Amino acid sequence: STFKELGLNKNIIKALTDLGYENPTEIQLKAIPQVLATDQDLKAFAQTGTGKTAAFSLPILEQIDLESKNTQAIILSPTRELALQIANNIEEFSKYTDGFRTAAVYGGANIEEQIRKLKKGVHIVVGTPGRTVDLINRKQLKLDNVKWLVLDEADEMLNMGFKDELDKILAVTPKEKQTLLFSATFPQEVESIARNYMYKPVEITS
Ligand code: AMP
Repeated sequence: STFKELGLNKNIIKALTDLGYENPTEIQLKAIPQVLATDQDLKAFAQTGTGKTAAFSLPILEQIDLESKNTQAIILSPTRELALQIANNIEEFSKYTDGFRTAAVYGGANIEEQIRKLKKGVHIVVGTPGRTVDLINRKQLKLDNVKWLVLDEADEMLNMGFKDELDKILAVTPKEKQTLLFSATFPQEVESIARNYMYKPVEITS
């Protein structure tokens, strides 16, 4: 299959061509059509290097309502480096998607600058759990219009002690949304998040 056959629009395909992405990886082949076609939750076994970032970002980008300024997707990742990397990838995927906006929010950086960016209206927010909760508490990040929630490297987030932050963030997102959980391992803590916050997830592996 090609990315076009998976159902992605020409602006995204053009950006992927610029990046040198020719063929979808295994996890992309499985996740992209699934997320485009259904609103079922998804549990994906995937390590870094498998192309998981594009696997969850592309089908969300494809479905963003560009007419709205609301935050429609929140992607949570364990570290600042990873959040920045995901946001940079999304910037690249969306370079021909006019009017689309994304932003990374993470600790250890000026919060006012991040707030200024959020105020302009950001379709996809990529955040670390601590800073995301901080922005929610300050009422600078509204997640009540979120349609997609991604937990990237869920095992790492739980290892780093972000369970309470994840609970808080999940509690302020709408019940009706699609949750995509990506993890390299599935210890009890990850299974428990999946059990508590996901409804009949489809399972895929890379
Ligand atoms: P990730 O697992 O998302 O961290 O991606 C690993 C690396 O593979 C990154 O450098 C991506 O830019 C690259 N990559 C992801 N998907 C593809 C693809 N379909 N074709 C070529 N490179 C890709």
